[in-house]
Parts: sequence; structure tokens; C-alpha cells
Amino acid sequence: MELLRKLEILADAAKYDASCASSGAARKDSRGGRGVGSTGGMGICHSYTPDGRCISLLKVLLTNVCQFDCHYCINRRSSDTPRARFTPDEVVRLTLEFYKRNLIEGLFLSSGIVGSPDRTMEQVVEVARRLREEHDFRGYLHLKTIPEASPELIERAGRYADRISLNLELPSQTSLDRLAPEKNLARTKQAMTGIRRRIDETRDAARAARQVRDRPRARPPAFATGQSTQLIVGADDSSDALVLGRADEFYRDCRLRRVYYSGFSPIPSPSVLLPLRPPPLVREHRLYQADWLLRFYGFDVRELLPDPAANLDLELDPKLAWALSHRELFPVDVNRAPRELLWRVPGLGTVNVERVLAARRHSRLHLADLRRLRVNLTKAGPFLIAADHCPRPALLDGAGLRERFLRGPQQLELNFGPPPARADAVMALTGQL
Ligand code: SF4
Repeated sequence: MELLRKLEILADAAKYDASCASSGAARKDSRGGRGVGSTGGMGICHSYTPDGRCISLLKVLLTNVCQFDCHYCINRRSSDTPRARFTPDEVVRLTLEFYKRNLIEGLFLSSGIVGSPDRTMEQVVEVARRLREEHDFRGYLHLKTIPEASPELIERAGRYADRISLNLELPSQTSLDRLAPEKNLARTKQAMTGIRRRIDETRDAARAARQVRDRPRARPPAFATGQSTQLIVGADDSSDALVLGRADEFYRDCRLRRVYYSGFSPIPSPSVLLPLRPPPLVREHRLYQADWLLRFYGFDVRELLPDPAANLDLELDPKLAWALSHRELFPVDVNRAPRELLWRVPGLGTVNVERVLAARRHSRLHLADLRRLRVNLTKAGPFLIAADHCPRPALLDGAGLRERFLRGPQQLELNFGPPPARADAVMALTGQL
């Protein structure tokens, strides 16, 4: 099969995986004339084509042949999608050629499971090994790993990759049994815990090596700086409380960098076990907002969703929805309240809160000061007290406060833009290879 046709099939098959962001990768570059590529400091910026493919990374599968039968996946054994398979050499060539032409900043490599999990992982690791060892590639590498693969292979993948991910996809074993019968929650978590241990060991050893500069110790072999997973939303009837509870467990126990929430999108020739319609897009957005509250604002899942069967409010962001149902805690005085309480005020982000804490050391803050500190007063106004502002009790307690924050009907836009020029360049290049 022609390389271009393979790329078409395997890049399209990879677009359903959302877990490819690179924030927090360790900086590597080729300054000084050694190696090729760079991870670009604070992380790589991605652009997405209209069909959802991330094009600043070469995001492909090694193969979309898979012996598993996950019902939500287009590559499942029982799907009649066209199949293709790259050799490790082809992926290496494509990555280097695309990189040199500035089409990509790194590689996101995943694969269907062929032969056995170990056999598949060996191929994925081989691509990474050749890039790093034979071509001294310093660009970003994100490898998808397979929980069932041997720990030695996961260890090797971690040594070459900047980020590794293990996708659980569904938040409970009951849902997995129904829609992805070969996947296992306990095994996935065990593999994630092993990766976490290796990341911690590498970080601690690197720290120790830094502290004894006069007597340099041998640095341990490098290991990926983080791991992530993806949960599909809307393919089963799992509640948002269950999804967020699982994500929270992974953040705590496996110290994941990110959990990605991917709204289920109907695939061609879908299984009868799947819903006919995708969930509303805003559900995925609300989950990301709630995830942010868990990680950076000190919220607990049970505070946001006390009922394990409940979903997030689609009309309001989760912090605002929480504040409206805990009005007895407001208004909060920005000149006196501790950091943790300020975090709970809608419209006050963590950056705003730090600015407020720094500014109030010098003088009492008025509304104009908050405006200068970029606080969103439309949202925060009813929930805070400033030197010249105290919301009327009738406003905070009134039934109309929720309506005040609801958005009116929105006019949708029609987008008839031209196809992305970068796609043409990719097509031209694969024709030459
Ligand atoms: S194991 Fe991965 S590629 Fe295979 S069917 Fe399941 S989700 Fe798809």
C-alpha cells in the first residue's frame, strides 16, 4: 500500500485520541549543533484541523489492526474499516521528514493491538529507540502504552518518551465489561501506579544529583516526565460524578498530569450497544472546568456532585453552580478572606487570587482595584465585598441570581473556510517519500 494511503488511514484512525497535549514536558533542544529538534520550552502549541486531528504533532497509529473489540472504537476487531500498518522504519522517516519541513513538533504514536500486547509495544518502543538513539531526535515524543504489556517494555517506552499515556476510556469495570470486554480497570491502574513510581524515582534521583554538585553522582536513566489517560464521555450511562471520581482517584494515586475527557462521537458502522447521538459538546467542557477545580482550587468531587448519579449543570460553570447552592458562605471579603476562600469566589481565578493577596498588603482594595487586577466583576460582584462594595442581601439571596448568569440564545456561525494549507504540504511531502 502507498505511504500516503497508509498515512491517510492511520492518521484518521488516531484522531479519536484526545490525550496528546504536551504541557510540562522537560525542555530538550538541539542548540550547539547536536541532534535534531526541540520540545519548545513551555510545551508545544497545537493546531487542530476541522476534522479534529492535531497537526503540530504527527499523530498516527502504527497500525489500526486490533484484536480487541472495544465497541466505541473504529479500529475494533469487528469494524469493517480499511486497515493499514506502518513499519517502524516508515514512521521514523515520516517523523524526521515532517520535522525538518517544520510541519510538526513531535510524534504522538499509538497502535492497535496485534499479535500480543508485548509484540505491539516492542514495535512502538522500536520507533522511539530509533528516533532517539539512531537519529538523536530531540522533539516531543508521546507514546501510548498498553496496560497488558510487560513492565520492562513500559519502562523502555518511558525512557524514550516525554509523556506516556494509558487510556482507560470508561470509568467503571461494569462499563468496560459491557463495551470493552478485554480491558481491565485494576490492571490499568496497576500499570499507572508502576509508571508513577518510576517517574517519582527518576525525579528524586535527579534532585539528589543536583544537590551534590561537588561530588557528581551518576544520573539515573531519564524517564517520561508525566503520564495521562483519556475517559470517553457519553458512550455509556456513567454519571459525571463517577467520571470525575475516577479522574480524582487517578490524580491522587497515580499522580497523572492530565485526564482528558473525550465526548463520544458516533463512528461509522457503530455497535448496537452505543447511543445513536453524541452527548452535548458542553458536557465535555464542563468536565474540564470541574477537573480544573479539583486540581487547582481545592474542591472535592463530592462538593461539586454530592449525588453519585448526578451530572454537572450544563448551563453554568461548576464553580458558579456550586456558589449558587452555597450562598450562605458569601459574600467573601477580598480584603480579609484567606486564599482558600477566595478560590471559591466565581470569577476569581488562581492568578487573580495571588494578585489580590499581593495587592491588599499595601492598601484596602476597592472595585476599581479589582477591575485593574482583571477580576471578572460581572461574575464575582454578587459574591464579594470590597472596600466600597457590598452586594445587597436581596441580590445574593434572590431567586433571580441564577437567571442573571444564564446565557441568552446564541446565533451559530457557518464556517466555509478554505482547507488548511498545511494539509496540502503533508500530501505533497508523502508523495515524495
Ligand atoms: S484496544 Fe484500543 S485500538 Fe483496540 S479496539 Fe480497543 S480502543 Fe480500539
